[in-house]
Amino acid sequence: MASRVIPVDPFDLVVFGGTGDLARRKILPALFRRYVAGQIEGDVRLIGAARSEMDATAYREMVREAILEFGGDEAGRKTELAAFLKMLDYVTLDAKGTQGWADLAAKMRTDRICAFYFSVAPSLFGDLAKRLHKHGMADDESRIVVEKPFGRDLETARALNRTLARHFHEGQIYRIDHYLGKETVQNLMAIRFGNVLFEPLWNSQYVDHIQITVAESVGVGGRGDYYDSSGAMRDMVQNHMMQLLCLIAMEPPAKFEPDAVRDEKLKVIRALDPVEPENVVRGQYEGGDAQPGYRAQVENADSLTESFVALKAHISNWRWAGTPFYLRTGKRLKERASEIAVMFKDAPHSIFGADAGRHHNILTIRLQPNEGIELGVTIKEPGPGGMRLIDVPLDMTFAEALGPEEADFPDAYERLIMDVIRGNQTLFMRGDEVEAAWAWTDPVIAEWDAQSDAPLPYASGSSGPDDALMLMHRDGRRWREIRP
Ligand code: NAP
Repeated sequence: MASRVIPVDPFDLVVFGGTGDLARRKILPALFRRYVAGQIEGDVRLIGAARSEMDATAYREMVREAILEFGGDEAGRKTELAAFLKMLDYVTLDAKGTQGWADLAAKMRTDRICAFYFSVAPSLFGDLAKRLHKHGMADDESRIVVEKPFGRDLETARALNRTLARHFHEGQIYRIDHYLGKETVQNLMAIRFGNVLFEPLWNSQYVDHIQITVAESVGVGGRGDYYDSSGAMRDMVQNHMMQLLCLIAMEPPAKFEPDAVRDEKLKVIRALDPVEPENVVRGQYEGGDAQPGYRAQVENADSLTESFVALKAHISNWRWAGTPFYLRTGKRLKERASEIAVMFKDAPHSIFGADAGRHHNILTIRLQPNEGIELGVTIKEPGPGGMRLIDVPLDMTFAEALGPEEADFPDAYERLIMDVIRGNQTLFMRGDEVEAAWAWTDPVIAEWDAQSDAPLPYASGSSGPDDALMLMHRDGRRWREIRP
């Protein structure tokens, strides 16, 4: 069963920062894979733009190497690679100066979709937007793609929104949260709104609590200095985890359309109660097993930045009042594993007596690795000797259920870049959503800054600080084991 690929209309895509890490590792390999899949065809042009002096030939060589390194299995397709590279062009350009802008303007065509990917530091977004207008490259149909981080708090996010709004209307701005491009994250909506099975139970009457875990086994590595100015709350919770929470908690949108979906997500964020200080735990990993600790990997040896956060959130609305959402994310944890677990309540009355124990269903959506869904159901333990109950998983690993080819999901960037070209903003964050998310996380960060206490240390390869376990224990609950 091969999936149907519909080619997108012809387009010109300018990648500002086309020589940078993100462009080489993600954006250009993603475009190549869509080309191999047959989604990009015909007279398409991909124009890299950065300050580095080089011509189109040198740029093509740089991109060829990037695709060989990061392009996955498709990188071996030599004929396609040669044809893809012909689509590439390059302009030496300074976002803050005058160099290169006239050259770029001369290259752009007006008879097609024009998209501009801002794969540069956010401090350059305003300069790019201004110059695109000044040089007549942006009309009402053109699109800009902006990367995270979108601000570092509410104030800076508002300022950034205002800057972009001076030159582009909201319908032209594609704020990337690559989690929304993940196939399994989109599947959350399919599972909830494509089945009758779950939605009637999807509320505080039947759901005891929800756990969202995004655990990484690696540390900050070479990104130490960027990460140290950010921390887990800004880097993961405000954006990726907030998006997961929204998709789990939102009301059914009337249609799978950009504003219908984003309106519902915004309502969730606005219904979140402020996080009480006793409901949040932050940690920082220590060294071990010849691995350096967090502070040895960043410039500031006394850094108070958190590499781990666990928190309990409440959504004050009819659907979720009384059902807490526990969020946990961190680096250098025991495994790389991301999942959402919907923990249903115990059956209201056990007809099998006290010996049968208490049992409840768990719906687990595994985001990575081994993407899939598992439903824990209670059955009779086989054999004679009375009615003893056990919990067993109904497990659907997508690779097994769909076959390895179908379950070879496109990378998030492939999906999202194609959505930009198609003009579909459903999987991109709207400006008011981003601001609302910052409005919720800002007070937590402000409280930490005010206390200036160090985050709690935790051992590399553990499940995080013990206090994170206590966050659950004191409610009579337990985190699920972090396992792939
Ligand atoms: P990077 O490796 O430092 O690349 C920055 C790019 O910007 C380079 O191509 C650089 O090329 C260009 N540039 C810098 N100053 C410029 C100027 N004045 N005019 C024109 N071009 C200029 O950064 P990155 O890691 O690719 O990140 C790019 C953006 O994506 C950032 O906003 C980052 O937060 C975001 N992001 C990155 C990742 C990732 O995994 N890398 C993940 C999520 C989000 P020249 O030096 O040749 O000008």
